Amino acid sequence: MTLLEGSVGVEDLVLLEPLEQESLIRNLQLRYEKKEIYTYIGNVLVSVNPYQQLPIYDLEFVAKYRDYTFYELKPHIYALANMAYQSLRDRDRDQCILITGESGAGKTEASKLVMSYVAAVCGKGEQVNSVKEQLLQSNPVLEAFGNAKTIRNNNSSRFVSEHLLGLGREGVGSREGGTWPRCLLDRMTRKGRSQVSLSLCSLKGKYMDIEFDFKGFPLGGVITNYLLEKSRVVKQLEGERNFHIFYQLLAGADAQLLKALKLERDTGGYAYLNPDTSRVDGMDDDANFKVLQSAMTVIGFSDEEIRQVLEVAALVLKLGNVELINEFQANGVPASGIRDGRGVQEIGELVGLNSVELERALCSRTMETAKEKVVTTLNVIQAQYARDALAKNIYSRLFNWLVNRINESIKVGTGEKRKVMGVLDIYGFEILEDNSFEQFVINYCNEKLQQVFIEMTLKEEQEEYKREGIPWVKVEYFDNGIICNLIEHNQRGILAMLDEECLRPGVVSDSTFLAKLNQLFSKHSHYESKVTQNAQRQYDHSMGLSCFRICHYAGKVTYNVNSFIDKNNDLLFRDLSQAMWKARHPLLRSLFPEGDPKQASLKRPPTAGAQFKSSVTTLMKNLYSKNPNYIRCIKPNEHQQRGHFSFELVSVQAQYLGLLENVRVRRAGYAYRQAYGSFLERYRLLSRSTWPRWNGGDQEGVEKVLGELSMSSEELAFGKTKIFIRSPKTLFYLEEQRRLR
Ligand code: ATP
Ligand code: MG
Repeated sequence: MTLLEGSVGVEDLVLLEPLEQESLIRNLQLRYEKKEIYTYIGNVLVSVNPYQQLPIYDLEFVAKYRDYTFYELKPHIYALANMAYQSLRDRDRDQCILITGESGAGKTEASKLVMSYVAAVCGKGEQVNSVKEQLLQSNPVLEAFGNAKTIRNNNSSRFVSEHLLGLGREGVGSREGGTWPRCLLDRMTRKGRSQVSLSLCSLKGKYMDIEFDFKGFPLGGVITNYLLEKSRVVKQLEGERNFHIFYQLLAGADAQLLKALKLERDTGGYAYLNPDTSRVDGMDDDANFKVLQSAMTVIGFSDEEIRQVLEVAALVLKLGNVELINEFQANGVPASGIRDGRGVQEIGELVGLNSVELERALCSRTMETAKEKVVTTLNVIQAQYARDALAKNIYSRLFNWLVNRINESIKVGTGEKRKVMGVLDIYGFEILEDNSFEQFVINYCNEKLQQVFIEMTLKEEQEEYKREGIPWVKVEYFDNGIICNLIEHNQRGILAMLDEECLRPGVVSDSTFLAKLNQLFSKHSHYESKVTQNAQRQYDHSMGLSCFRICHYAGKVTYNVNSFIDKNNDLLFRDLSQAMWKARHPLLRSLFPEGDPKQASLKRPPTAGAQFKSSVTTLMKNLYSKNPNYIRCIKPNEHQQRGHFSFELVSVQAQYLGLLENVRVRRAGYAYRQAYGSFLERYRLLSRSTWPRWNGGDQEGVEKVLGELSMSSEELAFGKTKIFIRSPKTLFYLEEQRRLR
């Protein structure tokens, strides 16, 4: 490992001198320019997206990293995966790998690299291979239904397929006698290239627990998904696409299937699909559809289940084409109707629904009081809203059903003792021009992850000091508990206030919600709004009236409260859920259990905010019970271009990822530590007592070397098995001396 800042910068940012944001970014840049995309901060891996195929993922690399310990080779994602896997297998410690970064930074690629590395090293045999294959095949299914082309991540999968093809050139399959799962081998063939689809996530987070037996062989897993961006189902920004599945289905289904689904092949014919974005360079929707079908089969979906899933997807597309028009009742009250009955008719046939009932459910609403039922007509805007809400609901429920269905296949029976490796691929801090509810919850999640990070890193440091018998040095750091509390406090947090407002009888709106926040938090040091004064007793004119701002650990974010209530409520008119429940289609019907009139008195489902908070709490509990490993992904430029490093863009991400704080915490008391044996091996040539021959113990040898160089005792601490060095300068001095010999 290169310790000194040389042509490729330092490999571990803990050794950076001086430690500043600027030098940190320059170091990453220097390395990136030399195609060194990985850098450590202690055992945290920073990864800068190369946007090109690098020859560093083939079998030789797998073999190399499998045989060495973490710091012995260059920083690499395989080193991290290997350390996590070995510690799980040999030391019986459950692991989690937390991958964060913004859109396009390479999170999903990183999670796949971790998974394929682990798949490559975790045992052989028919049974084992079949488990591996099922686990890996969950990716194409989740990607088809959970991913879409976005403006920020419009890259081609070419690079990825090529680097995976690189595995193939090594002849992996034959050499290892079939150790590699078929799906990895498939990727090496031309046909398989398209399997690696664009991984442009509209699913903001995915967590997968992979479970192993005591030997370290995989048994199965559990997937949890967070925040599917369901507004995409009905509307996409210019240049973006809907979820991949729709294009895959239209391009890949044969004529017979299309006919059965009552679809036309032309993507231009669907209101829910942005025109002019049907094709993405380097992406083969047709081939990906085949990959999807085969992945579903490998996972264990029956043909009948696959057909039903596709029927529900087709239903969503067809709903978008139901055109609602203005109508007026006899008394002049605005109402709505459907322009052409054929669409609803076909939907009715597709999923066994009475089309008249569907039309009624779309165009009117039933209000129930204790005494009576009142039916009101919806105007055209309300009816369109109802139609889109229905489409979004069907799709997101379908997605959740798919995740559950995959889990059913890959879950491990109870009773068996198992070891677990969790892989979390989640959006980092998100700050857009206009931040809404989605950004609010994802940033809340990141705030929590930062808390986990600080607490666990400090704990780990403390434990190491204790193990080594070295006094603990107090570290100053920013405790973001106050911000987490502002958001999640059970009675007085922003999410609780939002829920309270959603459930309160009377007229509630986004602005009454904001007024409540302003009243409660006007003196909170991390809350600002136009009407609350800041510390300088000035009103902030840069913020809209409908906004509030949170000073997150990573920076200030202004949120617009518009539609917070709606998004949190996430309610579907009962008429619609009842209509769906009446469908003869088993899958569709099962997605709307609350439509069953017998269930009508069921309690209101939890709000979106409450659900998210509860899944974040579960996630945190899960992470706290495991040994964490971090991958921080960085996007080097906005153009998905190889070799181009934008200092400004990376600076912003480094700030959101808290990299500097990361280094500070990691270097708490002592920046560098090394086992006596390895340290002596490297520096024994600096002392006449230990060079050329030394017959004493390792620690004694290290003491001799450092004693002869008259090192200040302040700088050093001798632990039970390791030497600790306080500042990187001391290490650089040692390196310099070494070079002069
Ligand atoms: P999102 O949050 O939008 O899902 P992401 O962080 O998951 O984004 P990826 O989809 O993993 O980003 O990466 C975007 C693209 O960058 C990939 O399709 C691939 O082309 C390229 N890329 C990422 N990591 C690597 C890598 N290690 N080697 C080569 N190319 C990479
Ligand atoms: Mg992704």
